[in-house]
Amino acid sequence: RRPSLIADAGKERGIHSSCRRSMVMPAWVIDKYGSNDVLRFNENVLLPIIHYPNEVIIKVHAASVNPIDVNMRSGYGSKSLNMSRDPLHIKTSGSEFPLVLGRDVSGTVMECGLNVKYFKPGDQVWAAIPPWKQGTFAEFVVASVNEVSLKPKSLSYTEAASLPYVMLTAWAALVNSCGLSKEKCPGKRVLIIGASGGVGTAAIQLMKAWGAHVTAVCSGNAVTLMKDLGADDIIDYTVARLKDQLKTRDLFDVILDNIGGTSEELALQFLKPWSGATFVTLVTPFLYNNDQLGIADGMMRTGVTLASKVIKHYYKGIHYRWGFFAPSGPSLDEVGELVDAGKIRPVIEDVLPMSDVPKAFQKLEAGHARGKTVIQVV
Ligand code: NDP
Repeated sequence: RRPSLIADAGKERGIHSSCRRSMVMPAWVIDKYGSNDVLRFNENVLLPIIHYPNEVIIKVHAASVNPIDVNMRSGYGSKSLNMSRDPLHIKTSGSEFPLVLGRDVSGTVMECGLNVKYFKPGDQVWAAIPPWKQGTFAEFVVASVNEVSLKPKSLSYTEAASLPYVMLTAWAALVNSCGLSKEKCPGKRVLIIGASGGVGTAAIQLMKAWGAHVTAVCSGNAVTLMKDLGADDIIDYTVARLKDQLKTRDLFDVILDNIGGTSEELALQFLKPWSGATFVTLVTPFLYNNDQLGIADGMMRTGVTLASKVIKHYYKGIHYRWGFFAPSGPSLDEVGELVDAGKIRPVIEDVLPMSDVPKAFQKLEAGHARGKTVIQVV
């Protein structure tokens, strides 16, 4: 059945004839988990089709790399992600392959499901695709409409592809977990640890656009970038212990941790107690626990760990939270307005052609990112 379904879908959506003849597309895939050599360029990946009436097919113009791509390549989170892909465990093990990685997309809408009202073919869009779905290092990707937003007019496709995943992660942490908003930000002191990478550069700009006071923690060669993005205070963590440098500063309302490790020790010492102040970290053992222990035991371990941390901080008057990326077209709409108003800009370290996806992974894996690496797909 599958080939004829795909052929029909191809005719309906008016995909250009060479593509329709073959019904395949080029994409970077993995067929097993491992190091960078599992990445394979495959020109014969089946074209994605619309399965639900609220989905659109996007022709990918540009994508970008995130740590989640490198982690997924290595198998991180596979148990949880397979659970989302196949909740009833109907499929055989390994059915997620060939797996297309890549979360960010900017491109044009090719075809809309029957219930799609807001978008039409030809619309220029951007989105971050959740990790349990096929990704964006490909010619086409399918997304639900609630994940998609009209691309800001002031950005090129290349620029736009650098923002969705990191912006939505910063949004999830600062808005959903810490309760910050445009109205609540003025006067708030926000500390961002790991400020020079993808999420950090997004978080600084969102907080500055909303009027918060931002202290950015980075290494020395990122200080100029932090200043350019509007950080009010910058701490170079390489010259002295962060803890010691923080002692000379006022207490904070929010700490966003993009690094993990011992960062959470700072929460009790440097947040304003009994004021609603919140520590949120993006580095959590949630997926790791499920990988190691299986879903049931992993969730149990995660629940116990999180609860004990929340309670420990709560008794000292501090909120403790874990932040998780959440796909959201409506949040991207708001980010897009800030972009077009000149308050948020892409921070792009490098733009690589589609043929250099493995190089982009290597680069990200080596660390020290300064903003984002974009993949030019067309
Ligand atoms: P990047 O790799 O883009 O950036 C990490 C940045 O941190 C680099 O600029 C690095 O530069 C800097 N850094 C490293 N060590 C320190 C330190 N001790 N103090 C201050 N800065 C440091 O990653 P992202 O910004 O995209 O993601 C950040 C983290 O958040 C990752 O661990 C990622 O896996 C996680 N994440 C979690 C999500 C979730 O849903 N929970 C979603 C998205 C990301 P340098 O080493 O030169 O200082």
